[in-house]
Amino acid sequence: QSKNDGKDRFNFYNIDYNKKAEDYLSLKQEIMQGLKNKEFEIYFQPQFDKFEYLYGSEVLVRWNHPDKGFLYPEKFIPYAIELGLIDKIDLYVFEEAVKTYKHWYEKGYNPGVLSWNVTMCQLQKNDFFSEIKEIINKYKINPGILNLEITEESIMKNPQISIKMLNLIKELGISISVDDFGTGYSSLAYLKKLPIDKIKIDQSFISDIPYNRDDVIITKAIINLGKNLDLKVVAEGVKTKIQRQFVIDKGCDFIQGEYYSMPIDKNHFEEKYLKVIYGSEQI
Ligand code: C2E
Ligand code: MG
Ligand code: MG
Ligand code: MG
Repeated sequence: QSKNDGKDRFNFYNIDYNKKAEDYLSLKQEIMQGLKNKEFEIYFQPQFDKFEYLYGSEVLVRWNHPDKGFLYPEKFIPYAIELGLIDKIDLYVFEEAVKTYKHWYEKGYNPGVLSWNVTMCQLQKNDFFSEIKEIINKYKINPGILNLEITEESIMKNPQISIKMLNLIKELGISISVDDFGTGYSSLAYLKKLPIDKIKIDQSFISDIPYNRDDVIITKAIINLGKNLDLKVVAEGVKTKIQRQFVIDKGCDFIQGEYYSMPIDKNHFEEKYLKVIYGSEQI
């Protein structure tokens, strides 16, 4: 099993591509090759509602690099963005996740809502919409189970175009979350203009609850803001029972974090969360 407890991540081989052109060129080829060879792997992290019922999962990418080992997104996503390859990775992850969900449906499981991440450029790209639609049609998946996660930063790159794209996505029936909420630069005025359904409280606000007074106050304020704007609120990076209880008491709708599970591969996800809860073995 791959490491998924999050603690060992900094021991992995650190890609040290300094900004030399030939390093970038080779990284570009490695990523292209990696996509072709299916070196990118999808992991799922479960999300639960206040009744501790499985609400869905977030798909997160890892790179099983042939020489550099198991790489977390922070080690390659920034480079993929610079190289203009992030949209290829994101689309790959999306298709793999949809394929996996389809497979689960065929087995009679209900994995709930599927959240996936995209990074900036796509919202500015015209084919983004048609690429997503194509995958939905190919796998005949109900768009209502899909949730797109996008950071404030990505939206604010070009708010006008982003809003247009997000509206198109929403018309398909896909819901939209603002990821890492509270860490970006978006003005609250924009929040009203965006066609969003959910905000995800960044884990940096959750991690020191209940000990850090500021974090407690900020988290409460974000939950209230979300409620008052009729948005669902997700707490990310929940590690302890106290943290879970705190955000639930304040009105948070969904919980994601180590308290339940770190991201795990699809086989483990199926074993742990689908077979047990919905599997035919139980009936
Ligand atoms: P994110 O979308 O905010 O995802 C949540 C991150 O928090 C994940 O890290 C997850 O493993 C981690 N996390 C969740 N709960 C806990 C917890 O209780 N404790 C700890 N220590 N960590 C927790 P991960 O998988 O390393 O991903 C990091 C970021 O990389 C993601 O942040 C997202 O911005 C980006 N990312 C991951 N997969 C993709 C992808 O397919 N496409 C794009 N564009 N970005 C991705
Ligand atoms: Mg996310
Ligand atoms: Mg986040
Ligand atoms: Mg993040």
